[in-house]
Amino acid sequence: MSYPYRWINDALATIHQAHWYRSTAAIEHSSGSQILVAGQPLINFAGNDYLSLATDPRLMAAATEAVKTYGTGSTGSRLVTGQRPLHQELEQSIARLHQAEAALVFSSGYLANLGTIAAVVGDRDVVFSDRYNHSSLKNGAVLSKAKVLEYQHCDVQDLRAQLQAHRGSFRRCLIVTDSVFSMDGDLCPLPEIVAVAEEFEAMLLVDEAHAVGVLGVTGAGGVEQYGLQQQELIHVGTLSKALGSMGGYVAGKTVLIDFLRNRCPSWIYTTALSPADTAAAMAALQVMQDEPERRDRLQQNIEYLQAALVDLPIGRILPSQSAVICWELPSTLVALQVSAALRLWGIFAPAIRPPTVPTSRIRMTVMADHSRSDLDYLVSCLRSIEPR
Ligand code: PMP
Repeated sequence: MSYPYRWINDALATIHQAHWYRSTAAIEHSSGSQILVAGQPLINFAGNDYLSLATDPRLMAAATEAVKTYGTGSTGSRLVTGQRPLHQELEQSIARLHQAEAALVFSSGYLANLGTIAAVVGDRDVVFSDRYNHSSLKNGAVLSKAKVLEYQHCDVQDLRAQLQAHRGSFRRCLIVTDSVFSMDGDLCPLPEIVAVAEEFEAMLLVDEAHAVGVLGVTGAGGVEQYGLQQQELIHVGTLSKALGSMGGYVAGKTVLIDFLRNRCPSWIYTTALSPADTAAAMAALQVMQDEPERRDRLQQNIEYLQAALVDLPIGRILPSQSAVICWELPSTLVALQVSAALRLWGIFAPAIRPPTVPTSRIRMTVMADHSRSDLDYLVSCLRSIEPR
């Protein structure tokens, strides 16, 4: 008889050998882009708090007020004891943001993707998924039991060819794509994807996790940036990135939302989003609407950094149309060394490695409250990395 948990040690040893081992770093204090880790002040180029709202006093006050009124936990699922008036108000605000008929708030963006995909397709159906889609989209497709076919990243020709070859063999068809790709920063070719979805009678789910608050005139994301708000699609977003809170959502037609309330297990069978998170997200949507200058500042910072990131000693900057800018490096080890060097210089920008991404890279994210000197300092540090 051998010890049945031994394989865990073996698996960890393999992870270490490949330089894929991951560990956590606690942020002891944060104020916008300035953070403290293990007592060291760092400039944060790693978070998803693009509009610098997670430590905004108005969001914190809204969350505190909600706790005083409703307590900490929501105590049950939305269909039982979890619902507060705040949830419906937030859903109305989200629907307005996306010019959708209705919206449904989930306890996380991950759960929104997982449950929605599993609810709208089943074992007689097919899902076409971009190769670089977020884990929640990929796992939603697996959970649905539909046939999953991956197409090359942002390659509409490949998507079209696969639709042509396989669409006819299945009942329903769903195309799923990130709007902004989380670990690359590029934007999907949405108008072309919408066109093939129409041609092949496919539903389309677009995950705007990294686009909301960043793209579009009102910050509604990639769909707004492309002027496709009137297009019928399944619009997924998260409250946990530019909106500085927690939770996720789906926006779309009233019938879709009604169906999800009845058939989406990751919404039905989990505790409702907490009152504090719900109130903070609502406050964030209000701030985003009242202060478009935040998004302008973010855009200016993105453009400034993109323009400055030339002549780096090694690797290459991946194409990006968002606040996520990635520096692809020759190996996992180099990516780890670069990240460690940046850390010593006071910059927090971790290495993202396989299996999360196919090639190792430093993922840098831009925030509205990064100053010009923060950005200049980052660039000068990146330039002083010694090629080995
Ligand atoms: N979609 C994408 C593209 C993401 O990057 C993430 C989070 N990393 C999610 C969904 C999940 O959102 P949440 O963190 O709110 O669960």
